[in-house]
Amino acid sequence: MSGGSRDSYCKRASERSRSYYSGDAAARSRAQDQRRRDNEAARARIRRDPPRQHHRPQRDESEVLDQSAVKRRITRPAPGVTSVDVFIIDNTASNRQISMHIKASTGWLTSTLDTMTPKSQMAFLFWSDHEHTERDATMREDIDFAFPNKEGAKTIYSTAKSIRCPTYGNDHPEAFECALKAACEIDFGPDVVEKHLYLISDEVAHGMNSPMTDRGCPRRVNWRDSLASVHKTFDTFEVIGVAARRATAECQRQFIAEDRLKYDFIDLSHLSLKHRQGLVMNTLLFLVARHQGLQSVGFFLQLLHDKWLSDPDPSFGRDTASFAKKRILEFKKYLEGDEREIDKIFEAIFV
Ligand SMILES: [Zn+2]
Repeated sequence: MSGGSRDSYCKRASERSRSYYSGDAAARSRAQDQRRRDNEAARARIRRDPPRQHHRPQRDESEVLDQSAVKRRITRPAPGVTSVDVFIIDNTASNRQISMHIKASTGWLTSTLDTMTPKSQMAFLFWSDHEHTERDATMREDIDFAFPNKEGAKTIYSTAKSIRCPTYGNDHPEAFECALKAACEIDFGPDVVEKHLYLISDEVAHGMNSPMTDRGCPRRVNWRDSLASVHKTFDTFEVIGVAARRATAECQRQFIAEDRLKYDFIDLSHLSLKHRQGLVMNTLLFLVARHQGLQSVGFFLQLLHDKWLSDPDPSFGRDTASFAKKRILEFKKYLEGDEREIDKIFEAIFV
């Protein structure tokens, strides 16, 4: 999924955006016809030459890798920015494959957001556990607030690339009670009025009655207090669960209030690791799109559907087209609003 260059993703996304949001019905219809032709050709190509496992084109990093753009400490959003997204990514050994995939997919992330939310900024907290030793270090690595534009993409990609994945932490829960608290302590400056927080993990925080060994938070931070601060600080808080164990996924449900569970906890634990990887960044983008409204969700899912067909993930193989449809339909249950409008949006995706 990270095979394409950022420039090619950007070009496609901005062309699509122009026709999708065009006030001219004929222009919209022409664009749909073009999508139909392109997708038919892509399906035929996949039938003829299915994407092969272990055959992923090497990415050209030259447009995004720039050591002088690395920003490892969260400062504050740029003046005038009114909306921010803060991503907490579980960076521990158990979640290594997922976090590596996220780091490698930032080209797709920034190019899509550059079209959907160009004036918002995002920041990342790559978080793991307390060391549970006398030194009690907590492994935290950040990526400072950045726009999804070309400069921001360099900062995000180059900083992510330098983030290590620690191996310590000798119990199962991670220090999310402290990560959530840290996210609330960010200095958002005077202009930000809209804040969204996301957590991607295969684990829970200390003290959440994990089914596995839990040595507790050495700083005695209570996850319920942190969650209360999150609700005061952020407009939304959503969790993408990528647990390998069913019991842990069940335990993760406590992150979300009962009345929001069916919308704000997206549990991918039932999928294979390969498919969790293929979906995690796209689930994140779906959530960002959802904050913009149903139209944006439709735009993003069309873009994703066509990308999956034209730039197929090797792990989806010959079944790419049916996989794309099935997975995209799964997003439907997380949408609130007029059912007929939602149906119409989904009909337009599959051409
Ligand atoms: Zn802690």
